[in-house]
Amino acid sequence: MKKQPILVSACLLGVSCRYDGESKPCDEVIKLREKYILVPICPEEDGGLPTPRTPSERVGDKVLMKDGKDVTDNFKRGAELALQKAKDFGCTMAVLKARSPSCGSGKNYDGTFSGRLIDGDGVCAELLKKNGITVFTEEELHLLP
Ligand code: SF4
Repeated sequence: MKKQPILVSACLLGVSCRYDGESKPCDEVIKLREKYILVPICPEEDGGLPTPRTPSERVGDKVLMKDGKDVTDNFKRGAELALQKAKDFGCTMAVLKARSPSCGSGKNYDGTFSGRLIDGDGVCAELLKKNGITVFTEEELHLLP
C-alpha cells in the first residue's frame, strides 16, 4: 500500500533546531518512516528565527521571547510555511512536539515562563488544525491510524 505523507517536527527526528541548539529525537517517531513518508518542519527556524534562540511562549494573541521581544510575525510565517508544505505534500496529519509554542497541541505554557501549562495549541498546530490537518503529539502516537 502507498505510504501516506505526514508532517513531523524536525527536532523529533534528531535535527538540532530547538531553541537551546539541541534536538529531541524520539525513536517511536523516527520509526514511523516504516509506515509513512515523514515530511519534516521546524516552524520557528522556517519563520526566520536563529538557533539557538531565546525561548518563547504564547501570551494572548502574541508570542514573546523571554526577554520581551515580540516574535509573533516569525511564528505566523513559520506556521504558514508549514501549512503550505502540508498542502504541497498532501499531508492530512502531523506529529508535532508537545508543549512547544509553535508545535504544541492541546497544552501550552501559560506565557509566564514559569513552567505552568494551560489548555491551548502552538501557533503552527493551531493553523494546521484550522485547515483540517489532524495533529498528534509524540505522546499520542497510539492514536495514529
Ligand atoms: Fe521542534 Fe517545532 Fe520547536 Fe522547531 S519549532 S524546534 S520543530 S518544537
